[in-house]
Amino acid sequence: MNEHYDYIVVGGGAAGCIVAKQLAKRSNANILLIEAGDNGVDDRFRIPSIENLFKTWFTDADWQIKTTPQRGLNDREITINQGKVLGGGAAINALMYVRGNKLNFEEWFRISGGDRNWSPENFEKYFKELESFNIDNLDNSFTRGNNGPISILKTPNPSFSSTAFIKGCVENGYLQGDFNGEKQNEIVDYMQLIINKNGERCSTYRAFIEGIIPKNLTIKCLSEVKRLIIKDEKCNGVVLKDNQQINADKVVLCSGALSTPKILFNSGIADPVELEKFGIQCTAENKFIGKNLSDHLRVMIAYESEIDPGNTEFLCEAALFTRSFLQESNEVDLQINFSAGVQGFVPDEFIPEKGLSNSVIFVPVLARPTSKGNISIKEMINGECLVNIDPNYLGNELDLEIYKKGVDICRKIAESMAMKEYCKTELCPGRNENVEDYLKNYASTIWHPVGTCSIGDSYKNSACSPDFKLRGINDLYIVDASVIPTLPSGNPQASIFALSMIASEVLAK
Ligand SMILES: Cc1cc2nc3c(=O)[nH]c(=O)nc-3n(C[C@H](O)[C@H](O)[C@H](O)COP(=O)(O)OP(=O)(O)OC[C@H]3O[C@@H](n4cnc5c(N)ncnc54)[C@H](O)[C@@H]3O)c2cc1C
Repeated sequence: MNEHYDYIVVGGGAAGCIVAKQLAKRSNANILLIEAGDNGVDDRFRIPSIENLFKTWFTDADWQIKTTPQRGLNDREITINQGKVLGGGAAINALMYVRGNKLNFEEWFRISGGDRNWSPENFEKYFKELESFNIDNLDNSFTRGNNGPISILKTPNPSFSSTAFIKGCVENGYLQGDFNGEKQNEIVDYMQLIINKNGERCSTYRAFIEGIIPKNLTIKCLSEVKRLIIKDEKCNGVVLKDNQQINADKVVLCSGALSTPKILFNSGIADPVELEKFGIQCTAENKFIGKNLSDHLRVMIAYESEIDPGNTEFLCEAALFTRSFLQESNEVDLQINFSAGVQGFVPDEFIPEKGLSNSVIFVPVLARPTSKGNISIKEMINGECLVNIDPNYLGNELDLEIYKKGVDICRKIAESMAMKEYCKTELCPGRNENVEDYLKNYASTIWHPVGTCSIGDSYKNSACSPDFKLRGINDLYIVDASVIPTLPSGNPQASIFALSMIASEVLAK
C-alpha cells in the first residue's frame, strides 16, 4: 500500500522546519517532511566559523545554482549557493538577523489587499514570539522578544576595526542603535547573529526539530521531490526522483525560491503556452510561476590597514542601514556590512604583490533593487525540465546609480577619523578604477532570491493568495521565500521565519 500522510512538507529549510514542526504541534495530523539533502548534524552546520562555511559552500550540501549570463554584470554567470541539507539556507548562511524596514511590511500588506495575515502588526507579533534576544540590559523589551526558540546575540568579541566602523558611521551623522527595533533608517550597530549562548548556530532545524521531534512528524532525508501528483485540480501527493509516490491530503512546498517553481513546472502548473512549447501537459493554469524574481547584490570594498584590524569568525560584524535618496520611498535601500579582513574575499588581482596581512572589508548590499527577473523552462531532459534562472541583476540603470552611492558612502566612512588607520589604501575598487565597471565586473549575489510565486490580491497579478494557497489548484500551499512579494531592506531569513509561523497558523485551522 502507498504511504499516506495528512500533510507533506517539501523541503526542510528555513521555512520547512518551522512549518513541519508547527503543524505537528498544532494538530494531530500526520506530517511527512521530505528533504533532498542530508540531516546536517555535523560540526560544519553547528560551529559558526568562516572555515566551516567554506566546508559547506560548493559541496554536496549546496545546490550551486547557476544563473543565465547577466547583461547588467557584463554577461557573467553567477552561482547562487543554496542550502541542500536540513535547515536549508539557515544551516549554511552568514547568520545575520535583520527584521527589515517597517515600510517593507506595509508594502506587503498593501500587495496582499489588506489581508490581516500580512499586516505589519502580525509580523511584529511573530518576530517577538520567535526571538530570544540575548543582550544584557535589554532596554527595548517592548519591541524585542526574549523567550522564543531563535537565539540572537550581538557579534561576540567584535574586532577593534568593527568598533571603529561604528564610530566612523557616528562621525558621519548616523546613530548607533537597534536596527531591529523601532527605527532602521540611518542606524548602525554590531550585527545581530543567530547563535545561541554557547556560540553555536541556531538554524530552524536546530531550533525547532533537532532532539524535539513530535511523534506525528516523520522526516525523510536524501529524497528529492520530482513532481506533484495532481488529479482534477487537486494535489494528492508527491513523486520522488526514484519515482516512488507518496500520497497526502495536502502538500506544502517549502523548497525555496529557486526550486519551488521547478517542481511546479514539472507538475504541469504554469502558463499553458509555455508548458506546451516543451510538451508538458498542463494540469493547472497559473501564469505567475517563476515571475517576479529578485535578489540582493553584494560587492567588496577592501582596504589595506596600517594597524592590526583584529580578527573575526563572522562574515559581517557590524552593519549600517541607510538610503541613497534616489528612490521615492523612504525605505532603507543600502545595507553596508563590515568585517575585519576575511582572507579569501578580496579578489586575487587586487592583492598587492608583497601580500596582504592587515585588511578590512565593507560590503555594500543593494537592499531594494528595482530590477526584476524570472525563472522559466529551458528544456526537457528525460521527462524532467531544466530551468533558466535570470535574476536580471542591475537590469535597471537606477540600481547601478543607487549602488554607486553605496560605494561613495563606504568611502566617506573609510575617511573618518575613527577608520583612518584601518583604511590606509583602497585595494578594490581602487581610486583609479571606474566604479561602474567594478560593480559590473565584481558584484555578485548575497544569496537572497525571493518572489517567484508571490502572493497578491488577485488571480490577475499573483501566483498565490495571501493565505499561501497556490491559485488554480486545491490542497497545494507554498511557504518559503517564493511567496515574498518584494525584497525586504535587509537579510530575509527573519521575515521567512515569521511568515512560516503565520502560514502554520493558517494551515492548521
Ligand atoms: C550562503 C548563504 C548566506 C546567507 N546569509 C544570510 C544571512 O546571513 N541572513 C539572512 O537573513 N539570510 C541569509 N541567507 C538567505 C537565507 O538563508 C534564505 O533566504 C532562507 O534560507 C530561505 O528560506 P527557504 O525556506 O525559502 O529556503 P531554503 O532555506 O533554501 O530551504 C529549501 C529547502 O528545500 C530543499 N529542497 C529544494 N528542492 C527540493 C526538492 N525537490 N525535494 C526535496 N527538498 C528540496 C532544500 O534542500 C532546502 O533544504 C543566506 C543564504 C545563503 C545560501
